[in-house]
Amino acid sequence: MRDNDQKLSGIRFDRVSVAYGGTTVLDSLDLTVEPGEVMALLGPSGSGKTTALRAVAGFVRPASGRVLLGGRDVTDLPPHRRGIGMVVQSYALFPHLRVEDNVAFGMRAQKVPKSEIPARVAEALELTGMAAYAKRYPRELSGGQQQRVAIARALAVRPGVLLLDEPLSALDATLRSGMLAELARLHRELPGVSILYVTHDQVEALTLADRIAVMDQARLQDVGTPQDLYRRPRTEFTASFVGNANLLPVRVGSAGKDTVSFGSTELKVPA
Ligand code: ADP
Repeated sequence: MRDNDQKLSGIRFDRVSVAYGGTTVLDSLDLTVEPGEVMALLGPSGSGKTTALRAVAGFVRPASGRVLLGGRDVTDLPPHRRGIGMVVQSYALFPHLRVEDNVAFGMRAQKVPKSEIPARVAEALELTGMAAYAKRYPRELSGGQQQRVAIARALAVRPGVLLLDEPLSALDATLRSGMLAELARLHRELPGVSILYVTHDQVEALTLADRIAVMDQARLQDVGTPQDLYRRPRTEFTASFVGNANLLPVRVGSAGKDTVSFGSTELKVPA
């Protein structure tokens, strides 16, 4: 990916709180995602993960605190001016638009010069392995292919920050492990891009993330590398959710985060 117009990278939550109708659903989150880092936000349903991601995207206004991208306070910027790419669980493609027009759509909103759009669409479809499907409609694609198009759409704006909200949870188990390896590959092809990856799935977090932020009940419980959290959980919650007290015998393999075993299954992320 060319970096001549690379957007701001690196995310900082500076004591970000969000409340709905008087209930705090995100409580004073302090967290930094470095440029080029994959941070998984891991926790059970309702723990505040999506709310945190939406605060970065600009869809939720914090009751207090600040969101910084590349060191710049963006708390008051509208979503289309933040230079982020976002992928959600349900793909959210426009059914009446061809793949190439779905990918081009986000760029129009972000005011990318019209003359640049075709090259960027081609580049993003190439990166996600979907170049051959440019003229198809979403209904002609499998779930995994639709999710690749959604990822291409997010990448086409050349974001400094990529937000992924449960991107694999609508896919079946086989597709999921293939897409996990693909996301790991994609990350290596996007140097400098910060990725915030929301998931309730321990294996996804352990496989993909450089660091994991463990959330429960609106609060950050723990943050660390997969190995640290698994071997030396700092809180009881982390131990029960990620660590060796977990029901799933998850083990980070000897090759570090490139290998994860759970039960008798070994999941390898190709180097
Ligand atoms: P997670 O992503 O961890 O499942 P969410 O951030 O989606 O959690 O939700 C955290 C809490 O905030 C939940 O209790 C949820 O019901 C509540 N919540 C989320 N969005 C809204 C909203 N728009 N209005 C009211 N409550 C909401």
